[in-house]
Amino acid sequence: MAVAPLLIGMPEMRQSSLVVVANRLPIDDSQALDGACEWRRSPGGLVSALHPLLRHTPATWVGWAGGTGPAPALPDVDGVRMHTVALTGDDLRDHYEGFANATLWPIYHDAVEQPEHHRRWWDAYQRVNQRFAEATAEVAEAGAVVWVQDYHLQLVPGLLRALRPDLRIGFFLHVPFPPPELFMQLPRRAELLRGMLGADLIGFQRAQAAHNFSQLVTKVLELPATDRRIAVDDRMVRIGAFPVSIDTTEMSALAGRPEVADRARRLRHDLGSPDHAILSVDRMDYTKGIEQRLKAYSELLAHGHVKVRDTVLVQVAVPSRERVGQYQILRDRVEREVGRINGEFGRVGEPAIHYLTQPFDRAELAALYRVADVMAVTPLRDGMNLVAKEYVAARVDDAGALLLSEFAGAAAELPQAYLVNPHDLEGLKQGLLAALRADPADVRARMRAMREHLREHDIRAWARSYLSTLDQSGSLLTRLSNG
Ligand code: UDP
Repeated sequence: MAVAPLLIGMPEMRQSSLVVVANRLPIDDSQALDGACEWRRSPGGLVSALHPLLRHTPATWVGWAGGTGPAPALPDVDGVRMHTVALTGDDLRDHYEGFANATLWPIYHDAVEQPEHHRRWWDAYQRVNQRFAEATAEVAEAGAVVWVQDYHLQLVPGLLRALRPDLRIGFFLHVPFPPPELFMQLPRRAELLRGMLGADLIGFQRAQAAHNFSQLVTKVLELPATDRRIAVDDRMVRIGAFPVSIDTTEMSALAGRPEVADRARRLRHDLGSPDHAILSVDRMDYTKGIEQRLKAYSELLAHGHVKVRDTVLVQVAVPSRERVGQYQILRDRVEREVGRINGEFGRVGEPAIHYLTQPFDRAELAALYRVADVMAVTPLRDGMNLVAKEYVAARVDDAGALLLSEFAGAAAELPQAYLVNPHDLEGLKQGLLAALRADPADVRARMRAMREHLREHDIRAWARSYLSTLDQSGSLLTRLSNG
């Protein structure tokens, strides 16, 4: 893409040829305040996914810095410009906690919790999307590539196109896109679809999601659509599956470090040197199937299929969206159940479940992955699930069994995992036992095949594949391969 002059009338504004737009900036709130910014590594797949890409590509990231005051001016992070969008307390309540996480999130995850609809939330969603579109229009140089991320910002492509028709706009949805029966519940379904169609390329995690979208566009907007292309006005919008991935090399290198291996040995010892360690790492979210997993584990204990001391379960459940009512209720229920199971089956110094709610850093997570003989990733619905991929990347010893829900995006790419339907309690128990009792040679063969897949299909391959489809002139790609 030719580098175009800065927009007339904005000589001071530093502009970029690649702009990533996401709800959050990739920095911690505390770090944003004192100016010493580092990449945010909090729970949430998006930041983990984009970090390695942007480190090597001159770019601007448009997003919210945390807090509800005026937008702070932030220094660049690893050469990436931080452009802040200010949000008020009302915006947070009605856009982020409301429309994004209590209307869209449950609808996009099979409505496993009841979605709520409030007109005030929709107003806030529009207002905040408009603010993001305006901020992006300011920092994108003429003809720039703009990559809008996720369900918080579905109207941005359309709003941005109205402001800046010169831009090449991509949209990627990290979460699932639901079947028409569910999406049709949304009172503002047509506006949401039209917003996404402002993009030149709409990426989904799975082909099924692109199919759902194409069906909805045909039904609701009566536009001619296939699972690959949609004609809108005088434009052709492309759609497709681009399964997101992880920095496989980085995770494998980290997990292979001697101090991480030492830490894993100490952790195993601290767990009482069990025969089998099972690990789950989730955000505390009703989509992650935590309660179903606890129930399965509890029944296996009750029927003597697994025994405390021989087997331990480590459940990391990092609290998130704590002001949303459904999340508070879930946390209470999970903690009551963990307490019950430990009370019933644990012994002094030997809990049945090691339950941890603190977020872990990468090195500690890598050590935990190396301890886990079985990694239980059993969401009821998940766009991808990066934890499953990180576990595979961390098993540099080719050991470890991945128990994986069919309803995680990762299942489409990792058929060698022990696949389960988390709604089927008996199936979940059988799957867990099968993974615990599997022949080590079988476990190794499966793990090797999954590692092989992830070596090639890593985060850079994802970005290359998406951006080469979006930016057909290929200049961004050249920069990526140089990184
Ligand atoms: N994560 C982390 N520390 C923790 C728990 C999770 O850094 O204590 C990271 C994890 O490594 C992964 C991300 O958070 O990269 C979670 O992504 P995933 O796709 O599994 O789930 P999401 O939270 O996006 O639904």
